[in-house]
Amino acid sequence: MPVETLLPRPRPKPAIQPWPFRPQPLPDELLSSYLCRLAVGMDLKPITFLNTVFGSAKNLLAQDLDNFAPPRIVERIALGTLRPAEEIHACTLRAYAGTLITAHNPKGRNPWLLPTTIDNNVRLRTGLQYCPACLATDAKPYFRRRWRLAFVTSCTTHGQLLRDRCPQCDAPVHQHAAASAMHCFKCGGELCEQAAAVARHDHIAWQSMLEAALERGWGPLGDEHLRAHVAFAIVRQVAALLVNGRHAQALRQVVARDWGGDPAPYEKPTARQPFEYLDVADRHRLFDMVERLMRGWPHRFVHSCLEAGMHRSHAIKDMPNPPFAYERVMRAYMDATPYQATEPEVAAAAAWLRRTRGKATYRDLRAICGESRAAIYRHMDYERRQAVPSRWRTEAMAALESQG
Ligand SMILES: [Zn+2]
Ligand SMILES: [Zn+2]
Repeated sequence: MPVETLLPRPRPKPAIQPWPFRPQPLPDELLSSYLCRLAVGMDLKPITFLNTVFGSAKNLLAQDLDNFAPPRIVERIALGTLRPAEEIHACTLRAYAGTLITAHNPKGRNPWLLPTTIDNNVRLRTGLQYCPACLATDAKPYFRRRWRLAFVTSCTTHGQLLRDRCPQCDAPVHQHAAASAMHCFKCGGELCEQAAAVARHDHIAWQSMLEAALERGWGPLGDEHLRAHVAFAIVRQVAALLVNGRHAQALRQVVARDWGGDPAPYEKPTARQPFEYLDVADRHRLFDMVERLMRGWPHRFVHSCLEAGMHRSHAIKDMPNPPFAYERVMRAYMDATPYQATEPEVAAAAAWLRRTRGKATYRDLRAICGESRAAIYRHMDYERRQAVPSRWRTEAMAALESQG
């Protein structure tokens, strides 16, 4: 008997019907924002819409869908909207792999991406920021993907600081549970009410440069043009040095003194918590300082690190693979601990000078042996026998003897 007849016949899959409402994602629209617009356009609650499409066994909104939407969900939305899967994928935070981050971690924390920490369907953290002016003036109010990024703390269109809470009740933004993109899910208040604070012009220009780096895939740093994820790794390290570690306080003080900014400490439950967990006001204060410190890269940074008593090992702390562009700065400016020649080396240098130049003068030995002064005084040839040594030599010898 042929084998095929024993196997169940492959059943044709039910054809997936496109949804009746299929708008294009708006520029830089976040996946969850797009899903809410799709649901509302079909007269459904976002939760009802998702349960109808994907089944209610797993509540998709109980997770950070923008960050962790599995590829099959993205593909299903593409089928329903008759749009290319790449276009839907571009609404996710995972699509930042290759520009903002090297690779996306689908299971946990990612650098730069703000956590929402959802527990029991409630967002515990303010990981979704918004510009009140954008929402108030949008023809169709929607949430931008870049509002989930830690360095994005102001709106480069409106020059205002972003918000991460309802101005009335302080609740985090929970768009799929709210009446509209412009309303708080908890108190129903308007998210766009009240004028927001204005950001500094230099800060806006700097943030625009970083946003452009995300678009282009490369970014300027000092005299160089780097792959965007390399430039972002360096910016993130500079920010981390201002927040975490035992030199952070000293570094902030030095930067505030020399270049400006607010050196007040950051409120954190643990010393090692990354800056992605800070609220938007604190992150704005942090990146204000990063902008000042990175201007004219790397000279201000190197100066401030050295002033704060930091060396290379401190500056690359917690960086798993320091990018070459960063390593090079370290090597050129921060490894410059003067070499102390040993006594036999000074003796050998003196002997060599006598053979080649007739005598070993203080000046020549200093040029070869650097700061090993005690040994130089012991091995140098004096110009002439002096009945009374000169005052500077007496003082220098006395100082050296007192040091032991
Ligand atoms: Zn705006
Ligand atoms: Zn509220």
